[in-house]
Amino acid sequence: MTQTLKLKKYITIQGKLICKTGLRIGGSKEELEIGGLDNPIIRDPVDELPYIPGSSIKGKLRSLLEYKYNRVAPNGNPCGCGKPLDECPVCTIFGPHMKPTHDLGPSRLIVRDCLLSEESRANLARLEKQGLGYSELKTENIIDRRTGTARAGGLRTMERVPKGTEFNLNISVRVFEQDDEAKMVGYVKEALELLQKDYLGGSGTRGYGWVEVQYEVVPD
Ligand SMILES: [Zn+2]
Repeated sequence: MTQTLKLKKYITIQGKLICKTGLRIGGSKEELEIGGLDNPIIRDPVDELPYIPGSSIKGKLRSLLEYKYNRVAPNGNPCGCGKPLDECPVCTIFGPHMKPTHDLGPSRLIVRDCLLSEESRANLARLEKQGLGYSELKTENIIDRRTGTARAGGLRTMERVPKGTEFNLNISVRVFEQDDEAKMVGYVKEALELLQKDYLGGSGTRGYGWVEVQYEVVPD
């Protein structure tokens, strides 16, 4: 298929991402001083507030669609088939993985970083007063299988965004002249539905990162 790269419009998907359980998206230890946390969450370097990187959400949505439509590459990599939308729901929307030459045009999906909602910002300021930087600390341990008790040295402290926290969600879908926009938006919505059955961030199989997404599709 020959692509004409004439941009027709943007479709916006906007709303809220609400944490139904604590959410953990790991940050960098190096930024912390000695005596800091073992497992900090990612924060904006300017205001130090927790946020969800657009890349984390985009990667998760992509991987869920890849599982659903059997598009995981045999070596376990993301899909890089470069086939059109009717054959691959992933490559047109997210961009083919590690495939510099293809006819799909630019990735259609733009996922913005999700920042704390005003309301959550105010709610979490309360925790700030207790010396916790807009987060909760969760201690976990490893059980020694022989004794059934907590293993010495097995304690670790995980930082999480507490349940109930809301982030603003904003996604743009670029629509080019010959694109099937209903189909593309359909796949994005499907991925958002899958996300709510799955999890976001780390330790999802152990209860973290259950999210609810409330959104509306706003045409250009
Ligand atoms: Zn593909």
